[in-house]
Amino acid sequence: MLLVRSVSGPAQVKGGSKITYIATSFNMSDPPKSELKKINWLVKAGSKTIKRAKNIGQIFEFKIPKDLVGKEIIIMPYRRTATQVVSVISNIVEELDTSPRSNKIIFLTRDQWKANSKYPRRGTIVDPIVRTKVFIHHTVIIDDDNTINEWETIEEVKKQMKVLQTIRKNDLGADVPYSIVAFCMANGDLVLGEGRGVNRSGAHTSGHNTKALGISFQGNFEKPSLPKHFHSQLVMLGKWLRNLREKEGFVNLGNERPWGREVFAHSDVKPTACPGEYIHKSLDKIRYL
Ligand SMILES: [Zn+2]
Repeated sequence: MLLVRSVSGPAQVKGGSKITYIATSFNMSDPPKSELKKINWLVKAGSKTIKRAKNIGQIFEFKIPKDLVGKEIIIMPYRRTATQVVSVISNIVEELDTSPRSNKIIFLTRDQWKANSKYPRRGTIVDPIVRTKVFIHHTVIIDDDNTINEWETIEEVKKQMKVLQTIRKNDLGADVPYSIVAFCMANGDLVLGEGRGVNRSGAHTSGHNTKALGISFQGNFEKPSLPKHFHSQLVMLGKWLRNLREKEGFVNLGNERPWGREVFAHSDVKPTACPGEYIHKSLDKIRYL
């Protein structure tokens, strides 16, 4: 006998609207139509049965009762017995929430990304008032999917931070060379992984590692594949730097800056492609003064 294995439907539905629920997988790969036709559907709100519909088939169209606004319903396609194991839950609302989610900065400390303690934190303590400038780099490490400069999950970020601990072991030492590593997330968030940190000297910009914070974007920005939310993420980084300057004691940050921008590019002081031409064009978006 055909059994339903999974079902799909929206997590949020508007009271009074007509919603389509679909049984999406079964215990057989190509079920005969005659079997599909016998799929029944049960809708419950808590312990109360809202609707039981027999022999409906794979697709179930259900008009959401208006009087259930504020409640959730559980929709279960079944052959013999309805079970929560094969179900989808829809929250019934008066109006769908269509407001865009606001993106956020997520700071990951070394403890949070679980720095390998085999490699102790390097750099010497630097007083915040000594910091006068910011250098931007890119790591030239790309993601292994189509969106090479965009990161999907926090787990990926943690893994990448650990890789950065030993990436330049032989010349720069076994630690992340940068103060901070910035990850442009696919959902628009900006994740800042703590490298040596804002209170220690770095190994990112020869001759400037005490006075400058070195912030490196994870990716290769010589390539034109820019993250979808790139510009707003640069603006977010500026906001984060402003907080350091105004609230965290980095009172001199930005006193040294190039003409027309508030951050330096690595290439401003060294013949290098770093931080990549596609980030270089947008460096003026990082504003914190
Ligand atoms: Zn660089």
